[in-house]
Amino acid sequence: MNPYPTLFICVSLILMTMLSNVTAQTRRQPVDLLVLGGAIVTMDQERRVINDGAIAISQGRIVAIGPRADIEREYTSRQKINATGKVITPGLINGHTHVPMVLFRGLADDLDLQEWLTKYIFPAEAKNVTEEFVRVGTRLGLAEMIRGGTTTYCDMYYFEDAIADETAKAGVRGVLGETVIDFPVADNKSNAEAMAYVEKFVARWKGHELIIPAIAPHAPYTVSEQHLKAARAFSDRTGAPIVTHVSETKRELDDSVKDKGASPVAYLDRIGFLNDRVIAAHVVWPEGSDFEILSRRGVGVVHNPQSNMKLAAGVAPVPKMMAANVLMGLGTDGAASNNDLNMWEEMDTVAKLHKVFSGDPKVISAQQAFELATIRGAQALHLQKEIGSLEKGKRADILVINRDTLNQIPLYNVYSDLVYATKASDVETVVINGRIVMRNRRLLTLNETAIKTEARAFRDRIIKSLGTSGTR
Ligand SMILES: [Zn+2]
Repeated sequence: MNPYPTLFICVSLILMTMLSNVTAQTRRQPVDLLVLGGAIVTMDQERRVINDGAIAISQGRIVAIGPRADIEREYTSRQKINATGKVITPGLINGHTHVPMVLFRGLADDLDLQEWLTKYIFPAEAKNVTEEFVRVGTRLGLAEMIRGGTTTYCDMYYFEDAIADETAKAGVRGVLGETVIDFPVADNKSNAEAMAYVEKFVARWKGHELIIPAIAPHAPYTVSEQHLKAARAFSDRTGAPIVTHVSETKRELDDSVKDKGASPVAYLDRIGFLNDRVIAAHVVWPEGSDFEILSRRGVGVVHNPQSNMKLAAGVAPVPKMMAANVLMGLGTDGAASNNDLNMWEEMDTVAKLHKVFSGDPKVISAQQAFELATIRGAQALHLQKEIGSLEKGKRADILVINRDTLNQIPLYNVYSDLVYATKASDVETVVINGRIVMRNRRLLTLNETAIKTEARAFRDRIIKSLGTSGTR
């Protein structure tokens, strides 16, 4: 038998395979990061869940998402996250915080809003809030948020420029509002000073890929009509969002009706303040035409169930606002009134609070609760074109969640699991704007040990400043 034809066929076959591999390799498009395997909860228009899916990421954005086999055929990357057996979701959006207030966590609890604010928080702030306080608190808050899968947060505080700096360094996305309030505060002593600060702050951060600088008039009862109008004019001129508090307590509603002849929402509309750049925290006490006004003006409303419960502020009519097409998101509020920055607890609470309050277990489903922390949260911050779902073209803000912890076994429905059973500690890997900021529970952009030491040192200073002893 002549062996040569067989040899020839073998060699040709090997060469052909090598050649086709090379063509496949060269045809595959290189990207910055591939997330491979796992069940992707997209939160897109159809609420698709892609089993054994994959995501290709380049320059901070999702370039492709689909079945793993398709993505692997088309894309290649040196950097990969193996997510086999995990759940992949959009990053969570904390719609309302005062991030440095983590340093006041547990300082004063079990009080109503007025007593808590005037007897404890305002004095503690007057004595302690410096740029250093704000930086240390922000780093602690950012570490807690990343560990719990929050990739975007909306903030209102003092020295917001320092908050923006820390946030950008940690690689977290933020809508960050510098407070404007009608009494002297830590960073600015007058409205003129505050407006000058905001001017510089917004100019410095505008166009940054992570930071959206905003103006934050504190509330309609702490900022005059003239200053509210000036804040709105500033927003019109610069495009900066407006972050504020509206209708947080029954007392605020009653005082507003007495003093201004209208609810806080109706008053703000009357003076021409409301539009689709406004992000309003709380709105616990809307009434009458308020629902229609909020919807028509495109105001984003951020519900903070745990903070409202803890300060006994009331229960916001969230199902009614959602039915009226008000853009709704979810937040923790500052950690001093919560006492953490954990969006998993907030999702669990929002679903349960409204069931018990209305007597209807169908009133907010697990899926709707998850929407409030993702795609609806993005709408409330007016960022739905950029974040809130995993879709081609959107920013790559992605969580990889461990599904093997005892509290998640067995698993029947992914939304039920995410809202009622998943814990913040189940978040394993966090990607923000295409960058891995936590990998297998290890923070990559923040030094956790240093953060804890710095924050503990502030505890002693704060206690001393208030002349109380505190209890450990
Ligand atoms: Zn607040």
